[in-house]
Amino acid sequence: MSIQVLSPEVVDQIAAGEVVERPAHLVKELVENSIDAGATRVHVEFFDGGRIVKVIDNGKGMSPEDLPKALDRFATSKISKSDDLWSLKTFGFRGEALASISSVSKMTLTTRREGDEQAFQLVSLYGKKQPIDRVGGSQGTTVLMENLFENMPARLKFLKSDAAEHTAIKTTLKAMALAHFDVEFRIQENSKLVNFWPACKDRKERAEQILEIKPLFVGEASREYVKAYAVFADPHNVAKTAKNIWLFAQNRWIQDRSLQAAVNEAYRSLLMHGEFPIAAVWVETDPEYIDVNIHPTKSQVKFHDPSLAFRAVAGALRGTLEKAPWIQQSGQLRSQAQFGSAGGAVDYSDPAATYPSAKGLPNFATSENGAKVAQPEMPKENLAFQDSTFKTTQFQKKDFSFPTTSVQQPQMSYQTLAEAAESRQNFEMPAKAEVNSLNTETVAPVSGGYWSSLEVLGQANLTYIVTQHRDKMVFVDQHAAHERVAYEKLMNAWKGGKIDIQDFLFPLAIDMSPEKVEGLLLLAKDIERLGVFIEALGPGTVGVKAAPLFIKESVLGKVLDRMATEVVDQGGSYSLERAVGDICATMACHSVVRAGQALSIDQMKNLLREMDHFPLSSFCPHGRPVSVEYPFYKLEKDFGRIV
Ligand code: ADP
Ligand code: MG
Repeated sequence: MSIQVLSPEVVDQIAAGEVVERPAHLVKELVENSIDAGATRVHVEFFDGGRIVKVIDNGKGMSPEDLPKALDRFATSKISKSDDLWSLKTFGFRGEALASISSVSKMTLTTRREGDEQAFQLVSLYGKKQPIDRVGGSQGTTVLMENLFENMPARLKFLKSDAAEHTAIKTTLKAMALAHFDVEFRIQENSKLVNFWPACKDRKERAEQILEIKPLFVGEASREYVKAYAVFADPHNVAKTAKNIWLFAQNRWIQDRSLQAAVNEAYRSLLMHGEFPIAAVWVETDPEYIDVNIHPTKSQVKFHDPSLAFRAVAGALRGTLEKAPWIQQSGQLRSQAQFGSAGGAVDYSDPAATYPSAKGLPNFATSENGAKVAQPEMPKENLAFQDSTFKTTQFQKKDFSFPTTSVQQPQMSYQTLAEAAESRQNFEMPAKAEVNSLNTETVAPVSGGYWSSLEVLGQANLTYIVTQHRDKMVFVDQHAAHERVAYEKLMNAWKGGKIDIQDFLFPLAIDMSPEKVEGLLLLAKDIERLGVFIEALGPGTVGVKAAPLFIKESVLGKVLDRMATEVVDQGGSYSLERAVGDICATMACHSVVRAGQALSIDQMKNLLREMDHFPLSSFCPHGRPVSVEYPFYKLEKDFGRIV
């Protein structure tokens, strides 16, 4: 066969393979056209696995002269010269979506401009335009696409199940709606209304609508010419996949591994393995620093400096996550939900003002009309959950030590502290280096912090600190809490280069693979900043000359091996920072109070007070929650006091 120039029809069909690989892609193109046309309402219907799609908008419409041109390849009203590509104000610019789609389907375009007396309609059969008709119709444009790929049976085979294609379409529409909070979306699947998203006042409100989580939190950050704005769920609300990380660049929905990693990075140490954040993130930059034209479906972009975008995104989320705004908020929201307007008079925003930590259980009663009203609090003496019994039995000893045998046999019953003190006798006495820092003297009281404001009632199962706060009971996992504190201390110490260390008279020998030994020694200087001083004792042995005071000697081997694995697996300074995080988490985990250890009221209060010193303290460094809440209304319900 000699070389021939392909006919326009074949060119369009080839292009269609790129632009409209699957129905969700063409839905995106059609909706973007509507938005480019200034629509404030977009109505999308789809049937039959997306082989029939109808998009109705109230945009500016087209003139009868432009109507046929809309279907021509590289015909666009949006740019005229190549420079325009770098200052795009519209989503479309390639002028090939309608040409491509219409070449592989039957397309009916109906359009009417403001001021025109009627609408004009153009039908195209697999790229062959029929004469224009005058029809009735309101302002805006309707694109009806039917018989997708009927002229290309090979492509039809590539479509997935109807359900899968519908899911992809709905996902795309969510993304479109997230990008355009001020546009109303109405979505029908197989003639059934499945979503109606009225226009919103801002991105946060739209995100709450689409992600169906409330409240979401907002963060912003800039790195040079890159700005990031993020709306996201607190770390209690997680997804099982990364699909709930929505990324937008210049308000275009994009897929971007690096930015996805940035979001995960921000949640680092807040989520457990297999948990993913729920977040929508918008990255904005000067148009000259971003190329949006590297992919036919425009789903990928290229940043001039990807690391700026990464840092802006991570910073936007982290800045808010570190303030853990959900902690205060949760009580507030629940209270409002519980009390309705009657409770509205109580100001929950300032815990100290209404419910100082010494106050007792708020008592709820039901008024005649059935609404819940808050009663004045009971005098403290009447409380069933009194802590005076605890006072007499709590430890006098403020020094506090590590158990070495406790975790294997957790006590299954709710113990009094007296019983706990008994069982504590069985614990081995720790070496000096194992004594941790829960001394009452060491912590300056912080007032106003959430954790300090919890009223400690006692310890349950030698594992949980039982507290109450305003309208709920809060159970704090003592190990997780202490782990978080130790972790933050370590991280701070590492950042500030200050850590209490202990020298060993003879270096502690730790055996590991030669490769790991080598890796560790290479980073000896960095590791020193963690307070661990090492030297080579042989090809397969590391000697520890000194280590932080709070790490038990018995776990040093485990910690160093873990450290070596991290160091071997990861290189570069950024990953060192991450490795340090992991290492600190491991060290923290092995150096703090375990479950199964009795704590005095003072020790528990101290631990909680220490929690207030650090941001992000509502999760342990492995992402497990530090506390769980049990609202009183749930208790009331369980007791049948309310229905
Ligand atoms: P592009 O969007 O890249 O310009 P398209 O093939 O998607 O290319 O659309 C071609 C042209 O058709 C657009 O430039 C626009 O002028 C017109 N058009 C398409 N859809 C609409 C619509 N919903 N409302 C008004 N004009 C439209
Ligand atoms: Mg377009």
